[in-house]
Amino acid sequence: MAKHIIVGTAGHVDHGKTTLIRALTGMETDRHPEERERGMSIDLGFAHLTLPSGIVAGLVDVPGHERFVHNMLAGAAEMDMVLLVVAADEGVMPQTVEHLEILQLLHGKRGLIVLTKCDLVDDEWLELVKDDVQAKVKGTFLDGAPIVAVSAVTGEGLNELLAAMDAIAQEVPPKDVSRPFRLPIDDAFVKAGFGTIVRGAVFSGAVRVGDEVEIAPKGLVSRVRSLHAYGNPVEVAVAGQRAAMNLSGIEREGIERGDVVVHPDTLLATQRLDVQVQLLASAPRPLKDGAPLRFYIGTAERIGRVFFFDRNELQPGETTFAELRLDKPVACAWGDLFVIRSYSPMVTIGGGKVIDPYPRQRRRRKVPAEAGQAAQKARSETEFVTAWLHERPDGVPLKDIARRLFVSPERARQIADSLLQSGVAFAVDRQTLLLRDQVERWRTAIVTTLQRFHAERPLRRGLSKEALRSAVAPELSPPLFEALLQHFEQDGTVVIDREVVRLPHHAVHLTDEWRQWAERMERRAKDAGFSPPDLDELLAEFPDREQAMDVLTLLIEQGQLLRVAEFIVHPATIERAKAIAQQLCEQHGSFTASQFREAAQTTRKYAVPLLEFLDHLGVTVRRGDVRMLRKG
Ligand code: GDP
Ligand code: MG
Repeated sequence: MAKHIIVGTAGHVDHGKTTLIRALTGMETDRHPEERERGMSIDLGFAHLTLPSGIVAGLVDVPGHERFVHNMLAGAAEMDMVLLVVAADEGVMPQTVEHLEILQLLHGKRGLIVLTKCDLVDDEWLELVKDDVQAKVKGTFLDGAPIVAVSAVTGEGLNELLAAMDAIAQEVPPKDVSRPFRLPIDDAFVKAGFGTIVRGAVFSGAVRVGDEVEIAPKGLVSRVRSLHAYGNPVEVAVAGQRAAMNLSGIEREGIERGDVVVHPDTLLATQRLDVQVQLLASAPRPLKDGAPLRFYIGTAERIGRVFFFDRNELQPGETTFAELRLDKPVACAWGDLFVIRSYSPMVTIGGGKVIDPYPRQRRRRKVPAEAGQAAQKARSETEFVTAWLHERPDGVPLKDIARRLFVSPERARQIADSLLQSGVAFAVDRQTLLLRDQVERWRTAIVTTLQRFHAERPLRRGLSKEALRSAVAPELSPPLFEALLQHFEQDGTVVIDREVVRLPHHAVHLTDEWRQWAERMERRAKDAGFSPPDLDELLAEFPDREQAMDVLTLLIEQGQLLRVAEFIVHPATIERAKAIAQQLCEQHGSFTASQFREAAQTTRKYAVPLLEFLDHLGVTVRRGDVRMLRKG
């Protein structure tokens, strides 16, 4: 497939942008909005051409300064090349400067300067304008960019411009395929017989006819019925193309400019986000904490307020970190660029980058340490996940990494692998990353807790998993804690014995005194026969109830005594009960509880639980009022 790039135009109103695009492409971009209803192929404000090398360039053009700013924001983050248009007769004007600042804020990468209307000026004047433009772009991404003088009237310079565009187009790197599909909607309409059609530039990834898609941040689910790219029906639309999509099962009213088409569950909707924010040196006044502002991201526009971590206002030219709160949700991810404009009058005052689309709740706002954490998150995807791990002792699911960074599951896995290799993270299962330091803290806490427990309760085999979890890591889910314990068992830190956990060296050791207690308990239960002692009664016979309980627990675990409801029963008694049940069945086929009670010479109080215990053991089976032996 041919390489596709998006070329943006920028520049003061009436400097000849629309005319230039018409001269280059033969296409009319500045038409009445009603025309778009005629079909998916008519794309307002968009034209395209094939450069001499075969690269397909989509050109953005939007009438009017206000709409221009919005649309430039929509496209600029993914603009591969910018044509900064300056009319030779007027030179650099205020909107020229504002557009350049916006492009700079949105990390404009490459482009060239086009001096239009050169038929209206003489060479000397043209040189003056060139010098002026060159001075204005100093220090920006257009510093040193080619300058081409053209005239749409005479056709002068147009071939030179195409050649210059083609040369720059060669430098555009292939689209990053590690990111999922995303199309910020800048236009939605209904076409009779088709239904809802949305349009925009594909920011990243690819979409196919038949794909299930989500309209974020609203969470509406739909399917791609058909696709157009540059006015032609296609099966797949890729990053760098302008595309129109016919969506099934969705009302036009449900969609608005600013919504984003993605594959389901790949992007987060948020109203509160952490950002790195820069106030332009040209901003008229400082940006105050909590001041309302206009926030532009993708094709979305919101009203928001910015809350700094470490200051009460941001001075022109400064950059810092802040939490941004919006009037309505947007769909965005780590690394997305945005622009802010003052609430009134609407002028561009700054911009920045999303560094966490879903920060944790904060109890207090002014915490300078948050700025440090934010700075780490801003540095790279890997640093973001590292900082996030510090905030999340309960672990970070790989699925969430993919959504916050808006990357493919494979890329999320690569980031996780690099953190595992560098020893920052630790994975107890395939889906969750834990901070290694935290894992070591849990290991220490588990060992300490078990040491103390073994010392206090030497007769207990160990501590139950659940008791250990709530003592050491209540924030971990039971399955994750189980996975962690298994890891600690594999490396020899602990031993898991059914439901209890112990240290490897721990063994139950009975002192002479406890051995005597054990013998007394067994004798007591044996002598009692079919009138066994209940638990409390038995424990009360010993000077230390807790210690006696541990001895008894041990005997029960080892099968030397049995617990039957609240009674402590000797195994010999159970054997006798079995024999009686067998005898009664041989005689009568089945037996009632009364018959058993008489044969065992006991009372109902003991007979009923003993019989239920036999049922439980699978010796007998109950049918209404009678019991019989279970067959087989
Ligand atoms: P835009 O607002 O930047 O899109 O400007 P337009 O393309 O609408 O052009 C504004 C005016 O300048 C129109 O009247 C055009 O005819 C005129 N114009 C544009 N390019 C040229 C040019 O190269 N030479 C001359 N003489 N006039 C031009
Ligand atoms: Mg125009």
